[in-house]
Amino acid sequence: MYRVTNPTTGITSQEFNATTDTEADAALRRAAGAFPHWRDTPVASRCAAVIAVADSLLARRDELAELTTTEMGKPITAARAEIETSAAILRWNAEQAPARLRPEPVDGVTGACARVQRHPLGVVLGVMPWNFPFYQVARFAGPVLVTGNTVLLKHAPQCPTSALAWQELMAEQLPVPDSYVNVFATNEQVADLIGRPEVQGVSLTGSERAGSAVGAVAGAALKKVVLELGGSDPFIVLDDHDIDSVADSAVAARLNNSGQACAAPKRFIVAESAFERFAERFVAGMSRHQPADPREETTIIGPLASEQALRLLHGQVTDAVDRGARLHTGGHRIGDTGAFYAPTVLSNVTPGMRAYTEELFGPASVLYRVADDAAAVELANDSPYGLGSTVYAADEQRALDVARQLEVGMVAINGRRPNVPALPFGGVKRSGFGRELGCYGLDEFVNHKVVAMV
Ligand code: NDP
Repeated sequence: MYRVTNPTTGITSQEFNATTDTEADAALRRAAGAFPHWRDTPVASRCAAVIAVADSLLARRDELAELTTTEMGKPITAARAEIETSAAILRWNAEQAPARLRPEPVDGVTGACARVQRHPLGVVLGVMPWNFPFYQVARFAGPVLVTGNTVLLKHAPQCPTSALAWQELMAEQLPVPDSYVNVFATNEQVADLIGRPEVQGVSLTGSERAGSAVGAVAGAALKKVVLELGGSDPFIVLDDHDIDSVADSAVAARLNNSGQACAAPKRFIVAESAFERFAERFVAGMSRHQPADPREETTIIGPLASEQALRLLHGQVTDAVDRGARLHTGGHRIGDTGAFYAPTVLSNVTPGMRAYTEELFGPASVLYRVADDAAAVELANDSPYGLGSTVYAADEQRALDVARQLEVGMVAINGRRPNVPALPFGGVKRSGFGRELGCYGLDEFVNHKVVAMV
């Protein structure tokens, strides 16, 4: 069942049945039927249509943002910003694609004139999470569409109205009907769809559990797969340079999206010399930001996306405290109504506690004190995940040395990673593989066909 349950009130307002097997099959047939027509639409027309979708997103920004605030409790100002970012991503892909899809000469081939041509593959299935209902779809569908593939989209069951809004926006602007098809599929239907010959690729953003399940099915079916999974990003502070502002920036990064962002810093690894000052300022900053009604313009953090998400986070925090971790602030829900959780800071977290290895998907952080750079790197890498990271140091070379040793897909030095469509996004280890955004994202679902004229 796909349903809208407002995490601010706990009230369920809309329900949608999952598709029947026959409907899932029909959805695939529609996307597959559209493929040759969309593929053969001139690239300039495809890109113009995707830019028109970006413009529609902006024109309907406020209304779409309200859907997200209702579905998963995102503060309204952040929800509007998400729509703007999504439009920018679609536009960037549409602007880049014409040059990117031109045949690329290959140098150094004696006796032949060789080129790589980028061709679309077919239907690409997207499986998306609830935490950024618009941004995640834009990251996936933007490059997939402009390169000439069609999209079959299974969104998270928590955000059916965002899923339907996407389908409507696409249907209004894309000249080939069914180039983008939404499907309220079950997990079993997703597995079946991946096995079908029309589906030539699958991209999942979500938890490690979901990525592993979908990746296994895709592997068995020999289908190309991109996985953008969870993270437990380290935020490393190597010295006490500008420490108050570093701590403030740490609080802001941790509380983005009410703490429910895959690439938010979750483990704060701080040098001995800076630890006390950082910890004091960080704990004070986290305590100051209490969650509030996400519909209010001034709200910075709202509820967690669901009661289930709150219970998961609280279980991880409780496990740590029960095993001897120190709780500096938070560690409890707020109020009787809604999934509100107090910003939480832990320290003395050790291997064996869930908070040491698992992703904390909410406003909870772990502080670690380390003796030197080598210890910081060792602790940062002692995680199953490898998505993003942040390093602060007065000496840039020192920060670069640490960055080089981190087992992650992304490092930001002395600031937050710029949120721009040109910057590739993705991880290593159990954070997944493949890239979204940037030119790497544009290249994921294409056949790099080599044509050698001898
Ligand atoms: P889930 O993994 O629960 O769900 C993500 C999507 O996968 C949903 O549509 C879900 O549908 C689907 N799914 C789950 N299991 C299966 C399965 N066996 N077969 C087919 N589909 C499946 O993640 P959340 O929605 O809870 O999102 C939070 C997670 O996403 C966090 O771990 C976060 O770190 C990660 N994430 C990663 C990002 C990245 O870019 N690396 C970005 C944003 C979030 P259903 O619920 O119906 O099972």
